[in-house]
Amino acid sequence: MTASGLPCKFCHMVSIADGGVLFTDFDGIPTRTCWKTDCQSKYHWELERIEFREKRRLQITGKCIFKLLDGFCAELSITGEFFCKDHLIRRCAICGKQATRACPKKDWGTCDLVLCHEHTHIHTYYH
Ligand SMILES: [Zn+2]
Ligand SMILES: [Zn+2]
Ligand SMILES: [Zn+2]
Ligand SMILES: [Zn+2]
Repeated sequence: MTASGLPCKFCHMVSIADGGVLFTDFDGIPTRTCWKTDCQSKYHWELERIEFREKRRLQITGKCIFKLLDGFCAELSITGEFFCKDHLIRRCAICGKQATRACPKKDWGTCDLVLCHEHTHIHTYYH
């Protein structure tokens, strides 16, 4: 499926030239957003809601909420904790607190560092 021909979920414009982003919305419906700043910010807000709901679901079912590049870990977590045994011992590369996610940068190849939700790994030419 290509993005062309599907209307933008937010502004309802159909664009042939500009593909936009295909995604599955909060209601599980495959849809598309265009590149307009307004639509992009609504799109990111919707992604956050989807992620929040997914995280709640994992927490309730006792699954690890460590965020990997392609979604949550979802392994069975240690009783009373939000993370599995592999992720509970991971520490933020910046501050040393419990890490909650893998470094999301992909443009410099694979990065093994993990971070808490407050910190971002700054990738420079020297690393
Ligand atoms: Zn739009
Ligand atoms: Zn895990
Ligand atoms: Zn940190
Ligand atoms: Zn990194």
